[in-house]
Amino acid sequence: MKKVIIVGSGLSGATCARILAENGFKVKIIDKNNHIGGNVYDEKEEGIFVQKYGPHIFHTNSQEVYDFLSKYTVWFPFEHQVLANIKGVYIPVPFNLDSLHALYPENQANEIEAILVNEYGKDNKVPIMELKQHSNPIIREFADFVFKTIFEHYTTKQWGRSIEQLDPNVMKRVPVYISRNKNYFTDKFQYQPANGYTKMVENMLNHQNIDVKLNTEAKDVLSFRDDGIYFENEKTDAEIIFCGAIDNLLDNKFGRLPYRTLNFVYETYEMESYQPAPVVNYTVDMEFTRISEFKKFTTPNVKSDKTIIVKEYPLEYENENQIPYYPIANENSLNTYKKYVDFVSQYPNFHLLGRLGNYKYINMDIAVSDAIKLSQKLIEK
Ligand code: UDP
Repeated sequence: MKKVIIVGSGLSGATCARILAENGFKVKIIDKNNHIGGNVYDEKEEGIFVQKYGPHIFHTNSQEVYDFLSKYTVWFPFEHQVLANIKGVYIPVPFNLDSLHALYPENQANEIEAILVNEYGKDNKVPIMELKQHSNPIIREFADFVFKTIFEHYTTKQWGRSIEQLDPNVMKRVPVYISRNKNYFTDKFQYQPANGYTKMVENMLNHQNIDVKLNTEAKDVLSFRDDGIYFENEKTDAEIIFCGAIDNLLDNKFGRLPYRTLNFVYETYEMESYQPAPVVNYTVDMEFTRISEFKKFTTPNVKSDKTIIVKEYPLEYENENQIPYYPIANENSLNTYKKYVDFVSQYPNFHLLGRLGNYKYINMDIAVSDAIKLSQKLIEK
């Protein structure tokens, strides 16, 4: 029987585990946590699913990803909405035509709306950095205002860097809407797992060929030697899928990769509703970036007179007791990452996967779709 060892029981690892198990592989999946699910892990508290590693909201345009996960969960339809709190005034994010009218005097808002619709067409979406470079000074001035109101402060808090030092794709995740669309995402499939993410992953891992071992650090069981990879001190020819931080696994031998981490501060309130949206972004003040109110996006039809929120305080990842949530891609870090990739490519049974393994800022659906692709490759190998 072909064997695979998977490091990490998050969505990437669990997807590979399930597909490979169904295709005749004996799967061993290890995780350093005392639970499965990686960062999508959730627990029910006060009747509400609380996501212990920050807000996760599923959305995808991929029929394949949606169909795959649908085998392990029932869903409830959920269209995410975000507001920014601008010193007490709530406006939709992505910044849309309603945001424009909320913050500008009526005449000026009408004028800007007409120019934007004329330039881009109604119902379009435009990246903020593109708007900022427009030849029309009225559009440029508007873009500078949106930039200051929505992006500048939030991004500095979130990344600890200026926008010029970031991968341009980060800003493209949240465009400006030339419409009254209030939805944070525009994907074809927008659903949340009705019984939580942990249950979905548990269902994925519930297969006779899958053996899960928790509380296990990859570093303690995996080593790279000249003649191959060793698992628990024995040379192994199993396929190895590694969904963790490769710099950490290899003792930073080519230097540390930069990541942002987060401190989550959870609070429970004796009230039905804490804020007017599932997520409120603080884009002009506060040290936290956003407040997520779980009952509004994780738990359908919950009746509770309590509510649980989380505030996110970003900071630089500095030691291995922290969790590297966001890779920070730039020329330097990608050069360092490439050294790790070149090193592990000497070992044809070793594969990097996921947000950490691939050092890529990806959403859950891409994690699943990358995992499906890698599994197919290993089945055909
Ligand atoms: N962003 C921002 N203001 C906002 C929302 C997002 O400046 O109100 C920027 C910020 O740099 C953030 C990026 O857009 O890191 C991507 O936002 P997204 O909501 O996709 O972040 P995630 O949910 O992945 O943390």
